Amino acid sequence: MNFTLHGIAVSSGIAIGHAHLLSHTALEVVHYVLPKQFIAAEVARFDAALESTRQELAALRGSRPQQAAAEFDAFLDLHLMILDDEHISRAPRAMIEREHCNAEWALKVQMDDLVAHFEAFEDAYLRERKTDVVQVVERVLKTLTGQPGHVPPPPQHDGNMILVAHDVSPADLIQLKPHQFSAILTDLGGATSHTAIIARGLNTPCVVGLHHARELLRENDLLIVDGELGVIIVNPDKQILTEYRLRQDQFGLERKKLRRLKATQATTLDGTTIELHANIELPHDLPEVKENGATGIGLFRSEFLFLNRDELPDEEEQFEAYRAVAEGMEGLPVTIRTFDLGADKQLNNAKRVASNPALGLRAIRLCLAEPQLFRTQLRALLRASHYGNVKILVPMLSGVAEISQTLQFINSVKQKLDAEGIPYNRSVPIGGMVEIPAAALALNAFTKKLDFLSIGTNDLIQYTLAIDRTDEEVASLYDPLHPAVLYLLAHVIGSANKAGIPVSVCGEMAGELVYTRLLLGLGLRQFSMNTAQLLAAKQRVLTTSLPELATLTQKILRADDPLKIHELLAKLNAA
Ligand code: PEP
Ligand code: MG
Repeated sequence: MNFTLHGIAVSSGIAIGHAHLLSHTALEVVHYVLPKQFIAAEVARFDAALESTRQELAALRGSRPQQAAAEFDAFLDLHLMILDDEHISRAPRAMIEREHCNAEWALKVQMDDLVAHFEAFEDAYLRERKTDVVQVVERVLKTLTGQPGHVPPPPQHDGNMILVAHDVSPADLIQLKPHQFSAILTDLGGATSHTAIIARGLNTPCVVGLHHARELLRENDLLIVDGELGVIIVNPDKQILTEYRLRQDQFGLERKKLRRLKATQATTLDGTTIELHANIELPHDLPEVKENGATGIGLFRSEFLFLNRDELPDEEEQFEAYRAVAEGMEGLPVTIRTFDLGADKQLNNAKRVASNPALGLRAIRLCLAEPQLFRTQLRALLRASHYGNVKILVPMLSGVAEISQTLQFINSVKQKLDAEGIPYNRSVPIGGMVEIPAAALALNAFTKKLDFLSIGTNDLIQYTLAIDRTDEEVASLYDPLHPAVLYLLAHVIGSANKAGIPVSVCGEMAGELVYTRLLLGLGLRQFSMNTAQLLAAKQRVLTTSLPELATLTQKILRADDPLKIHELLAKLNAA
């Protein structure tokens, strides 16, 4: 059947390929068929995961809270009982042997069956136990898929597979990176969720917030993904396919043309040089940074070094990663953000997930609450500062107390390094992210105490408009042109410029061409964005004359009607 789905376009480009579905549980699971000779090993892998989960549950007994020992024991007993249930411990084995499928899939199918049994119970208590079943299975799935190298490979690899998932966490997407799907589709997610950000960095068309794609699409359906419009055409007819193939070629040609700008300096028509920096997640993003001619790294989201693993990276491992990037950029600025864990980037062994994680113990709050972790990272960062042009950026600062505490931490780590005779850059610049409205409104402390600022528009908009950036239900309310957002941007950029403090924007807004001139008009001279957007942004800068932006920008700031703002912005972009 031929039909169309509409979602939120988050990464442009056109892909034509076959759907590859990830399963519907909280932990996404792929289905693949194994050659006969691998079946025994797959069964052994399943058994080992069960055993490891059993040990994990048993070990939890040692950490039970004193005041609730009885409840905790009952919970563990129940989970161990579920683990030993025939559906969980034996039926998947039989299914692997019978259907030659992967262990994750077999477990998931059996779990669905067991959950259906529980749902049929009259008794509310028993019905609720299905949550325990899901929790136990998720534990086993984590053991099966959570180890590096255990992300199940897609069944065939012709480079034309389109990943269709209910949701993919940023951590999972990073792990799926080497499989190079030609597009990524999810039911959940907003345009600035970290999953969307990573998809954009992969230069892969991505549409999120599709609501029911995972249910409506079938494995191997032929799909056209229009990443520009957020449209998916399912099982298209020949004519549409031909048209989209043409558009795909055109898109490829445009990308190729942009590559010619790699070594060109990003200078406006009136001769002002604009810094176009790159956002990265891991050191291996470096080749793309260079290919796209970035003049620095404006945001290294260091927390990605901490995801997808049980053991956290120690000082040495972090130091090597930061040093590799610092040296690799050969003297160009490398802005490394201290880890922004929490919210949609949780550690594997996170002690607890807050009920409202975006407002919980996230980023600098977590750093200050976990001094040992923070000190280790600061040591690694300071040591790496000896090997390149490193700057340290601190996320989610809300005010003077956090700034002072952070600076104290840094000073105490410096003193320790001094005592040990370890070299570092004594004047390593320390910057703060402005991503909480309170920070933007009480900026004095920031401009007085910090060396540079970076505006995280993804969070600044989320917190200003009270819109969860990962929730597709409110994605349409996410509005970078809301007068309150524009006011804050104008205020922060203007105040930083006045105080002589370098300021950049490193949220997704920086890489969206429709906002380039507006940000330039507000006085921004430094942008940091996904590598995939750098060359197009450069082209925009090259065709812009700064003096011509002033009047329209002021009019936009004074307008409060959304239609008027869009009209003025269109004029600004047409000039
Ligand atoms: C932001 O909030 O705009 C930002 C750049 O940080 P992150 O997207 O990692 O939260
Ligand atoms: Mg942020």
